[in-house]
Amino acid sequence: MSFISELKSNFTNKHMNKIKQLEMSVNNENGAIKSNHLSPEMVSVNKKTPLRALPTMLSIGKNIEYTFKSLKNNPTLPKTTASDDFIQKFENHAKSMGIISIGYTKVPPELIFKDKAILYGNAIVLTKEINKNSVDNDLSRKTLTDLKLYDKFGKITNELANYLRENGFSAQASHPAIGSVTYPSLAQYAGLGWKGKSNLLITPELGPRQKISAIFTSIENLSVKENNEHSWIADYCNTCGKCIKKCPKDAIVEIEPHNGSNGTMLTPEVCKGCNESCTICMRECPFNKREYEYLRNRFEKITIK
Ligand code: SF4
Ligand code: SF4
Repeated sequence: MSFISELKSNFTNKHMNKIKQLEMSVNNENGAIKSNHLSPEMVSVNKKTPLRALPTMLSIGKNIEYTFKSLKNNPTLPKTTASDDFIQKFENHAKSMGIISIGYTKVPPELIFKDKAILYGNAIVLTKEINKNSVDNDLSRKTLTDLKLYDKFGKITNELANYLRENGFSAQASHPAIGSVTYPSLAQYAGLGWKGKSNLLITPELGPRQKISAIFTSIENLSVKENNEHSWIADYCNTCGKCIKKCPKDAIVEIEPHNGSNGTMLTPEVCKGCNESCTICMRECPFNKREYEYLRNRFEKITIK
């Protein structure tokens, strides 16, 4: 191993160990909500990053640590009910920081990764855009671009958790780069979109081009949607399958559909997007090429015939 690789590896291991310890400390908190027997394993991958990305990685590491360290700032007796006016102010504030969509859900324990825990069962789910040009064209700098987006979005998520605290609520920010829950499914539960066969969340605003983060909070009266209007995407995916066909690593594997599954499974160990930079499944998805409403109208016409 070269000196540079060794430096990067030591740096990453040191931070990952610290983050794991902080994560485990949540398991020991009173009232922590834990994973169950249906929960997925979290697979860690060693993303190949250029040396110039080290400052950004350091910043991401610090902000992940802050998601745990800031828990001590939660109010001792947090408020549990938020007025419509406050929620509107929160949403306006979030959107002024570049958040594209905001959804609310109770967190099903089976979405919490095995051996992990969260402090509150009420989730605010946030999305932020991945630049279309970088998905479609930027092949050389994608990894750094991606890390910078994670960094910015992580900071915004922490700031929004602080905003809730300042207004009397408890909050646990969940960083977009390393959450305790499986984000695309959580966002689907929150009604923001639907998880396609690519295992990416597909939304009306951005198609498959977004990062997702969450804030778990003491607010019990979040406006949770009963039905998901985007469920038609599951049928659309059954007629498409482009992401499976175009994947250079056969990383999207078809499985028997079951509760919460879209009939595929991503194998992070072989996915180039998880290890290097690859956005083929995102780029090739029809929802990256055409408007959501156009695809829905066309699909409805075909299926009604
Ligand atoms: S990111 Fe690339 S390798 Fe991974 S599933 Fe998508 S197309 Fe396949
Ligand atoms: S490429 Fe096709 S099958 Fe894959 S997620 Fe997009 S719409 Fe669904």
